[in-house]
Amino acid sequence: MKKSSQSESATLRQQAEELLSKQVEKSIGKLSEAEIYKMLHEIQVHQIELELQNKELILAKEQATTAFQKYIELYDFAPSGYYTLTGKGEILQLNLSGAKMLGKDRSQLKNWLFHLFVTDDSKQIFRLFLEKVFSGNVKESCELALLTSENLQQYIYLSGILSDNGDQCYVTATDVTERKQSESDLRTSNELNETLLQTIPFGMNIVDEKGNVLFVSEGLQQHFGAGALGKKCWELYRDNHLQCDYCPLHGGIKIGLTETYESHGILNGRIFEVSHTGMIYNGQKAMLEIFIDVTERKQAEFKLHEKEVQFRNLANSGPALIWTSGTDKLCNYFNEGWMAFTGHTLEQELGNGWAEGVHPDDFDQCLATYIAAFDRQEPFEMEYRLHHVSGEYRWILDLGTPNYNSTGEFMGYIGNCFDITERKLVEQELKTAKEHAEESDRLKSAFLANMSHEIRTPMNGILGFAELLKEPDLSGAQQQEYIRIIEKSGSRMLSIINDIVDISKIESGLMKINIGEVNVNEQIEFIYSFFKPEAENKGIILSFKNNLHSAETQITTDREKLYSILTNLVKNAIKYTKAGSIEFGVSASSTTGSVSEPGSTEQGRSVELLKFFVKDTGIGISNNRQDAIFERFIQADIADKMARQGAGLGLAISRAYVQMLGGKIWVESEEGKGSTFYFTLPFHAKQNEKKDSQKFAFTDVQVDQVRKLKILIAEDDESSNQLISIGVQKFAKEIINVKTGTEAVEACRKHSDIDLVLMDIQMPEMDGYKATQQIRQFNTDVVIIAQTAFALSGDKEKTLEAGCNDYISKPIRKDELMQLMQKYFSNMKE
Ligand code: ADP
Repeated sequence: MKKSSQSESATLRQQAEELLSKQVEKSIGKLSEAEIYKMLHEIQVHQIELELQNKELILAKEQATTAFQKYIELYDFAPSGYYTLTGKGEILQLNLSGAKMLGKDRSQLKNWLFHLFVTDDSKQIFRLFLEKVFSGNVKESCELALLTSENLQQYIYLSGILSDNGDQCYVTATDVTERKQSESDLRTSNELNETLLQTIPFGMNIVDEKGNVLFVSEGLQQHFGAGALGKKCWELYRDNHLQCDYCPLHGGIKIGLTETYESHGILNGRIFEVSHTGMIYNGQKAMLEIFIDVTERKQAEFKLHEKEVQFRNLANSGPALIWTSGTDKLCNYFNEGWMAFTGHTLEQELGNGWAEGVHPDDFDQCLATYIAAFDRQEPFEMEYRLHHVSGEYRWILDLGTPNYNSTGEFMGYIGNCFDITERKLVEQELKTAKEHAEESDRLKSAFLANMSHEIRTPMNGILGFAELLKEPDLSGAQQQEYIRIIEKSGSRMLSIINDIVDISKIESGLMKINIGEVNVNEQIEFIYSFFKPEAENKGIILSFKNNLHSAETQITTDREKLYSILTNLVKNAIKYTKAGSIEFGVSASSTTGSVSEPGSTEQGRSVELLKFFVKDTGIGISNNRQDAIFERFIQADIADKMARQGAGLGLAISRAYVQMLGGKIWVESEEGKGSTFYFTLPFHAKQNEKKDSQKFAFTDVQVDQVRKLKILIAEDDESSNQLISIGVQKFAKEIINVKTGTEAVEACRKHSDIDLVLMDIQMPEMDGYKATQQIRQFNTDVVIIAQTAFALSGDKEKTLEAGCNDYISKPIRKDELMQLMQKYFSNMKE
């Protein structure tokens, strides 16, 4: 640069010197010296001026170079793209931004055609743009899309102008992609809004503060017609049912506040959800009303609600207690039946509240069943006691079923519970009955084995000694001894049979009590004298104690039963005592509970109970059997029973009698030392039975006092017939024997002078009841005495009803027969 400027200035100097020499040649000869000096001076000044100018020029040139440099930088790094293009679009020059827009290095782009970077859609636009630029001297512009290397569309704004010489044009390019995108977004958003407005379920409108309709969506226009705009909003609704009370126009529009309400019947009876929002529209306060048609939804909701009500009614209508639980295992519903059962509120039962009503003994099992089934989602069945509103626990059968929704998702459980208390009770009763039956069966088997022994023993005695009696060479004493054994065995058997009959009567509820005046002293003394010989035989001292005042000895009770109880206890005492003593007796209990002392002078006390006792020094009874011995057949159940006589019925009968008479019986005993049996009787037992008026003394009747009778014996069993015949022989002048009821009737008809008929009840052809009835039809005078084998309750009544005068049980006891003879025939003389 410096070099060239030096050569340039040298050339310039040479030109200047040549010019000067020509001018000097023309004019210098004419000039004076002064003028020449002056000219020289001028020339020197010019030279200095020129030198100064040259310096300025050099400075200006440097400044121009710097500016050009800056321009180049500005050009290159300007944010806009600059292109210099030919008329064909060939790129002559471009800046860096221009290269970047085309996605290539600047050095690669020289002489490329600009079209190559324009999208197909924009190629025509670009062609027109170039044509316009080159056809005139005005600035032209266009927008087009470029293809970038990433194949993304880039939008640019081109502005071009022709160069001065008209062979090229200068084009600036601005990236407008973002603006385009925003425009597109806006367009999309507008389209969306448009679509929304068109497709919104019902529609919307905008009204100003006075209710003038400013805007109506298409949806609403269909209903309101074309003239909706400008009308008042309340004029639009065909069914005049708009709940205008809610309309914010009343209270003034609040910008940004949305209020929603449900409106029925605004249009054609449909239901809408209407929301009002305060807004600014076209610079003024306005209200946006959005109407959403919820008719179908509401109808579906209503149907759902109706279904729910129906299911609730269903759940509440049956006897079942119903609950449901969720996936958290907690209960979330109980029907009314449940609440009525427990007496609790729903709130009390929800969650785990219900569990408090479960019986503590059943709780763990109940919870374990529920949880185990729950974890496996299996049905379950459990029984537990649930607290009932009445205060008692009742048995519940709870059937749980897993609950799945319509998509098969597990939702928890549904439980149906039933009150099975009655069933449980029946089950329990059946169980107890079964246990009883099994126990009875066991005892009865044991009893039968024992009974077989008990009956066979006296039977052996009877048959064996009867056989022996047939021996011809027997002495009188031997015969008497054998007969005594036979009698003893007979009465032992009779006692067993009586016990069996008694226990049967008690168990079948047929045992009656006969209340009457009883002298306790007499009873005790009689028993004492009766058992004294037997006790003495065993070397045991028998004694009795009577602590009653004389006024207290007469009580009202069932004499035979009292006799039977005492007899049984004393008999047992003798039986189970090897040595020592037996004492029995009675004392009185007053209301104050005091027991009178012997010889007490206390008068006028109010006695309520008599307390009897039988005390022995026998084998005693172990503690664990002191209750059991009062059960029937119990003796037979003793594994190590001693070979003593007895059917194990005595105490059971005694207890039944004591209870029937209103008392209690118990024992106090120590094994090896002895036992004391106690029983109480009310001083005045209830008169619940017809008083037995027929009392007999225990004295023998003189046969002589009875006249000789014509007697008819009706009896089918030969030996019994014979026995009775022998028994009545002393009173008879004639005995007629018949074997059936029919024969008995015939005999009576034939012999009207018969005095006495001893009528068996169980006879072939016609039984004793019927025969008696028939005889009574033609003979009311003859004395008919019924004889039955079984002393069952009701027998006596039945025979009396049939027409018999009296009753005697088989085998006929001599003393009883005597009493009857005396009663009916003693005062009659032949
Ligand atoms: P049993 O006919 O066997 O005597 P009970 O019913 O009278 O029948 O008595 C039942 C059982 O009670 C007897 O078998 C005996 O084991 C026991 N027992 C009754 N009385 C006494 C007593 N005084 N001492 C000891 N044990 C007795």
